[in-house]
Amino acid sequence: MKLLEDRILQDGTVLPGNVLKVDSFLNHQIDYKLIKALGEEFYNTFKDTGVTKILTVEASGIAIACAAAEHFEVPVVFAKKGHHKNVGNDIFTADVFSFTKGITYTVAVSKKYLNAQDKVLVIDDFLADGQACMGLKSICEQAGAEVVGFGIAIEKGFQNGGKLLRETGIPVQSLAIIASMTDDSICFASND
Ligand code: 5GP
Repeated sequence: MKLLEDRILQDGTVLPGNVLKVDSFLNHQIDYKLIKALGEEFYNTFKDTGVTKILTVEASGIAIACAAAEHFEVPVVFAKKGHHKNVGNDIFTADVFSFTKGITYTVAVSKKYLNAQDKVLVIDDFLADGQACMGLKSICEQAGAEVVGFGIAIEKGFQNGGKLLRETGIPVQSLAIIASMTDDSICFASND
């Protein structure tokens, strides 16, 4: 998606450890006009899959998930990180290794908000090694729900997550795929 690629080139910075910082429009300050366009793009791709819920993980996936939900007219459920007391005891959980923080944390979703009738679109801001998305997929499986797609804003194509997700056979749409990045250049792969 050219709009997103241009914005990454304009405002993204590459941090040590293969981390792309996009704080000015996605991860801290949010450019909602851009985020709305991402949501619309996901809708155009997945509109015929019968989506009943959009599932993401707090915090940065939420804005994109809401922008998509406006079109699908379905609820957004976000997995909470380690807040089990707030979520209650009746929960689905998955352990996720965080690429950026280097720690494993547990994500939880209340059993009230996912069930076996649900068709779920999983949305996240980044795809690196695929741990967050696979954790969300595991939560859907525990609920008996079907994952109908993965919608990713920025995939780092040089990491393993894309392969892992595509091997599941579930459709994956990444709006920008970074083929390589260094301190002074970011190259995109074709995402046709
Ligand atoms: P994965 O679970 O695919 O290894 O990593 C995806 C998660 O880690 C995303 O939810 C995102 O929050 C974070 N993440 C991974 N790589 C990056 C990155 O390069 N930049 C930013 N800002 N977040 C990242």
